[in-house]
Amino acid sequence: MTHYAQKLKNLFLISALILSLPLSAQNIVTAYTTGYFKTNYAFMVSGGEWKSVRIPIPFYVIRHPQKGLILFDSGLGEEFVSQEQSWWVHRLANSLLPLEFDSQKDPAALQLAREGIDPQDVRYIIISHLHYDHAGGLRDFPNAKIVVSREEWSQAHVDRWKARGRGVMRDQLEGLAHRLELVDYSKSIPFENFDKTIDLFQDGFLRLISTPGHTPGHQSLLVTPPPSQGQPVLLTGDAAWVMENVTVPLPKSLLIQWMEEDGPLAWKTLKKLHEFSKNHPEIKIIPGHQP
Ligand SMILES: [Zn+2]
Repeated sequence: MTHYAQKLKNLFLISALILSLPLSAQNIVTAYTTGYFKTNYAFMVSGGEWKSVRIPIPFYVIRHPQKGLILFDSGLGEEFVSQEQSWWVHRLANSLLPLEFDSQKDPAALQLAREGIDPQDVRYIIISHLHYDHAGGLRDFPNAKIVVSREEWSQAHVDRWKARGRGVMRDQLEGLAHRLELVDYSKSIPFENFDKTIDLFQDGFLRLISTPGHTPGHQSLLVTPPPSQGQPVLLTGDAAWVMENVTVPLPKSLLIQWMEEDGPLAWKTLKKLHEFSKNHPEIKIIPGHQP
């Protein structure tokens, strides 16, 4: 393939991700983004190159044959701008991580509506953790049960200053209590090299994996469709930000490790993800904010 053709091919592959076309998982898992953060790659990976990057703020649509439409994470939501404007602390904290976000276009519910998917039809949202860039869309899907770890939920329900210090905008979680399906990892089972996992619907399709460190109750999701329907996918959430975190493996930068709830535990979790990915090259790994 000529250099030019290779470039074209790369461009096509990147466009496919940005335009949310299903990749190799054949429609079982589809990746979208609700805008982009502008940051530096050196923050994402220890020893990483000093270069500006635009990183997606993703959510994923999963089609379960019996349970219907399921999201993993929800990105920034329709109310983000007003939530941010409502408190100077949000404005100040969020200004440290500039973003590109169009509230008329980018929220998950609006993107799905444009594709003819009624946000009312989403049955479940599995949430990796409650940072504002993942929980922002929860209120936009009124009929979705929210699958969140019990620990994550209780850690976010502290006064709004403390919550904000943990990366949580409490406004995004108002009015959700009746929709919760709290995941209790004290009743979990080991799976492969992970200590705590839960087969969500007891059908082997969606396995929740406790991946703490970035936040105390962080969870990742292993999607295993029947072999005829596509490739298994591991959605790491923010347990890993980019592929290098998992493949090498490399921790996040020292600054980020210091900012995470438990940096050493986050690194331990990353090493487990690395080991798992090495044992299972057939599983596609999708990190939380791959540029
Ligand atoms: Zn994030």
